[in-house]
Amino acid sequence: MIEVKNYIDGQWVGFDGPSFESFNPTTGAKVARAPVSDAAAVAASVAAARRAFNEGGWRWTKGSVRAAALLKLADMLESRSAPISELIAREMGKPVRVNMAREVEGAVDKLRYFAGAARFLEGSVTGSTVPEIWDMVLPEPAGVAALIIPWNDPVDLAVRKLGAALAAGCTAIVKSSEITPASTAALIEAVHDSGAFPPGVVNLLSGPGQPTGDALVDHPGVDKISFTGSTATGMRIMERAARRLAKVSLECGGKFPAIITEDADLERCLDAVTYGAFMYGGQSCTACTRLVVDRRLHDRVVEGIVERSRKLPMGDPLDPTMLVGPMASRKQYDKAVSYIRLGIAEGARAVIGGVPADQSSLFLPPTVLVGGPVDGRVAREEVFGPVLVIHPFADEAQALAIANNTPYGLGGSVWSQDINRALRLARRLDVADVWINTHYIRHVETSFGGRHHSGLGRELGMAGVEEYLSWKRLCIDTRSEFHLKNWFEGPSK
Ligand code: NAD
Repeated sequence: MIEVKNYIDGQWVGFDGPSFESFNPTTGAKVARAPVSDAAAVAASVAAARRAFNEGGWRWTKGSVRAAALLKLADMLESRSAPISELIAREMGKPVRVNMAREVEGAVDKLRYFAGAARFLEGSVTGSTVPEIWDMVLPEPAGVAALIIPWNDPVDLAVRKLGAALAAGCTAIVKSSEITPASTAALIEAVHDSGAFPPGVVNLLSGPGQPTGDALVDHPGVDKISFTGSTATGMRIMERAARRLAKVSLECGGKFPAIITEDADLERCLDAVTYGAFMYGGQSCTACTRLVVDRRLHDRVVEGIVERSRKLPMGDPLDPTMLVGPMASRKQYDKAVSYIRLGIAEGARAVIGGVPADQSSLFLPPTVLVGGPVDGRVAREEVFGPVLVIHPFADEAQALAIANNTPYGLGGSVWSQDINRALRLARRLDVADVWINTHYIRHVETSFGGRHHSGLGRELGMAGVEEYLSWKRLCIDTRSEFHLKNWFEGPSK
């Protein structure tokens, strides 16, 4: 079993308080033991990050120095891609093939982007003043950043925050998820072993929401909180952070609709939405969870999805041919099954899958629900499991009404070969991220975020780096004539 330690001030720190364990969802075996970090551990990590920011001078380092450090980390992580991908597969069941191709390689690419971003931070000088007045806005790092991440991409989601924070000149405390402490610790081991970061610039804490998350969010020394996880936790964090006006950005849940119009390229669409719905058991915030289909295509779409779902390679996540492993935890499995049960109770019919007769393992085959109400809970709430609902529509207005009928606003897609129609629908989808005729393409160069219950702020791209900046306006008057000189002389006659 892996013993995960906290990483504070450049040291792996032993802990003799309470601990918790992570489990292999395929075998049930223990994978790691990690500390339940308490308020004292939080305070030590915040103090270390503060020292590194101020006395250590990380905030004043040149962009090129931060870039070099991030590039070194990228190389170190890349050299460990295979073992870290296997560890993620063992700790949360995501297939090693997905981890190699998407998670770890994606994280390496992001670190290289953020290295470049460290050298591209720009403020502005207004060109509207007289030339003797320099009126400008300067980017400064926000300070100590708490980075709270979930379990579904335990390396990549940490890198999205950590790379941006370090590029901006912040110091950081990463808090891993209680499901995947070892996977995120493997990233921090790469930080340590790269030797590229002074002590205290990057810190790691393990522990659950209570007490660890709360203590981190409440700590007055934390200037910026960046969170990815459920909407309920995001709301709690924002409420607590509001008490001291800490900067917050939130990447929360989603309920992704795909609108499939009558002129869609159906083969391509069905391949993409089946992959989008069920890859690693639908445990992705931008998993495709609802198909809103032209009613003339409804039966063909249902048949096509069922046929493809049967062929999905599901099994041991360490087998490099698999695309779907077990659900990450018993809690996640039970939640998905309860939504399948609920969907059926609401009037839907499972055309494949359904409530499994044998629930002893955490492997949950795809479920496709048809005929349920568009305002049912399973149609509107996030399941975060392999559950896809399909609704027919009669015209574009109805398609949009169904697609937008959820409190979330993360992502959606439109499938049409008529570019005017595709763009019309894309503009009217009330989400922050739209794919047209594709799914799961993401580039670090373009920023990403959610609206409504899906979050606040941006991640990736330069906008993602700016989340870790604090702007300073600076005005210099070089004129010899002081503009307030006459102010004390009374009104002119
Ligand atoms: P979660 O909210 O249960 O936990 C997320 C993290 O928050 C964990 O590290 C957890 O320990 C911590 N946490 C819990 N309570 C806290 C508190 N009171 N204070 C501070 N931290 C606290 O979410 P989860 O089950 O780990 O992740 C699944 C969710 O994440 C889904 O809703 C999914 O949609 C969302 N997600 C969103 C994105 C995105 O980019 N929008 C990406 C991935 C996952």
